[in-house]
Amino acid sequence: MKPGPKRCYIPGMTDDTHKPAQNTVKKLHMQTWGCQMNVYDSQRMSDVLAPLGYGLTDDAAEADLVILNTCHIREKAAEKLYSELGRLKEHQQNKAKNGGRMMLAVAGCVAQAEGEEIIRRAPNVDLVFGPQTYHQLPEMVGRAMRESGVVNTDFPAESKFDFLPEEQAVTGRSAFVSVQEGCDKFCTFCVVPYTRGAEVSRPVQPVLDEVTRLLDKGVIEINLLGQNVNAYHGTSATGEVWSLARLIEAIAKDSRVKRIRYTTSHPRDMQDDLIMAHRDIPALMPYLHLPVQSGSNPILAAMNRKHTREDYLRLIEKLRTAKPDLALSGDFIVGFPGEREEDFQQTLDLIMQAGYASAFSFAYSARPGTPASGLGQQIAPEVKEERLRRLQELVWRQQRHFNQSKVGSTLSVLLEKEGRKPGQLIGKSPWLQSVVVEAPVSLIGQLVEARIDAAYDNSLMGTLCSAIQAA
Ligand code: SAM
Ligand code: SF4
Repeated sequence: MKPGPKRCYIPGMTDDTHKPAQNTVKKLHMQTWGCQMNVYDSQRMSDVLAPLGYGLTDDAAEADLVILNTCHIREKAAEKLYSELGRLKEHQQNKAKNGGRMMLAVAGCVAQAEGEEIIRRAPNVDLVFGPQTYHQLPEMVGRAMRESGVVNTDFPAESKFDFLPEEQAVTGRSAFVSVQEGCDKFCTFCVVPYTRGAEVSRPVQPVLDEVTRLLDKGVIEINLLGQNVNAYHGTSATGEVWSLARLIEAIAKDSRVKRIRYTTSHPRDMQDDLIMAHRDIPALMPYLHLPVQSGSNPILAAMNRKHTREDYLRLIEKLRTAKPDLALSGDFIVGFPGEREEDFQQTLDLIMQAGYASAFSFAYSARPGTPASGLGQQIAPEVKEERLRRLQELVWRQQRHFNQSKVGSTLSVLLEKEGRKPGQLIGKSPWLQSVVVEAPVSLIGQLVEARIDAAYDNSLMGTLCSAIQAA
């Protein structure tokens, strides 16, 4: 299959950033589907369970507790969950035969949306809990030991962040920090406001403290996360309300911070101070994920996006004036109810005008309970697929062109892991491109300079120039 832009942030992933722990009494196996927010949540869940003696294992068969951290954004989420639960049942039975017990928990947005229904369809599940309750995991696990089918889909009054322990071991030099959660925008296609709840920003000081602890552990790249991260409005210790730009500026003051990224942004929350932060803060990477969803004004209105294509294009122009090498990534939905061929053409036209370095694109999927799912004029699956293919071809061309434009230049690369071939390492460019270089394993975790020799659809090949940051 032709390589191209990813259609899902982290497609059906089992998160391999969770390394098995040594010397722990009980074994925890986690599978994480969906966005980076879920990856962050899984890391924090394992932090919450560590004091109870749970250490991570990659092997579901030997686990005492399995947590499936689910995503509900597109269809087949529930089917995928139930098929995985069926597979795990065998491990549960084997464990029981040997006198042990494997507890099964479902977390994340499918858990929030389906609640009791999960226990009804899969009685082998011990615990179902939503994204806002995982700080209560110790007591929920305790309850699930004694009672069958514990369900907790509350939106508690307290913020989970106030009750989480400090993060445990950090793997790698790049870390996620969740700063904002939930959403009040209610795009008519989206489940997030229902599964993650209202928009909340974490206060400034705990965020800065978390960043400092990560830097103390060797992290050099901070990825700020939120469903609408640029809507961030956290309260400082003196009671002032800080924007995301101000938070980024404060984080960048520590010279150990080499790279800052943030995701996901909404066009309506892209304020001038954040645009200027791209101009003024060297550590802020020149890459912006700014979903627009559609290039057609009637469709944008039906989606309740509350911005027009002109607003979006003006914003891009402003950003590129402030930061000429800024690369853009986006999200697109094709086949929203009522989308005509001319609406779709408007989306292609917007892509041509804006120019993307990468993009995530999806066929519209009716999510139960969302306003758009009840609209007439649902688009036939074959039409959606055909539009998706055309849109992706256009974005692939742009992505290839963007990658080609880096050939001959020297880029900073944060080396992350070994490549497929012996002697190769893979890292990330400032624009999130994968860069492959020949380098010794000892350079994993270092920021190096690489001259780019060749570009492919999804990666760059480079030659190591020098280690520019060793620590
Ligand atoms: N807050 C971000 C924004 O406003 O653009 C998006 C966050 S959403 C979790 C991630 C992406 O999933 C969306 O940008 C959208 O493209 C896609 N998505 C959400 N609901 C969808 C649906 N019902 N069908 C297809 N794609 C969907
Ligand atoms: Fe969903 Fe983003 Fe719209 Fe909020 S702004 S409803 S998260 S697509």
